[in-house]
Amino acid sequence: MFGEPIPDLNLYAQKEGVYCCSKCGQALFAANKEFAAGCGFPSFYEHWGDGVTLKPLDTNGRHRIQLLCNGCGQHLGHLFPHKHTPTRVRYCINADSIIPSSIV
Ligand SMILES: [Zn+2]
Repeated sequence: MFGEPIPDLNLYAQKEGVYCCSKCGQALFAANKEFAAGCGFPSFYEHWGDGVTLKPLDTNGRHRIQLLCNGCGQHLGHLFPHKHTPTRVRYCINADSIIPSSIV
């Protein structure tokens, strides 16, 4: 009744490892920064080190931030504001662009 439900940010808190770029293997997101956003896309609230490039986009009158792999430039997804994450943002990622890895 108050809009979107608050996601359980601790749901994946025990997960270990990182998600890497599916093309070049660059570490992109820590698995314990993933959360259930309920949008069908893998979602994170923080990226890994300097593995992700944030590129402002102004297309069709919309301002968005595109997320690119800092290693190979692959398009990863977009950054959106989010009320309920510690960083107030949500990294909405294409599942095909990341692969889980246990190597940190
Ligand atoms: Zn890459």
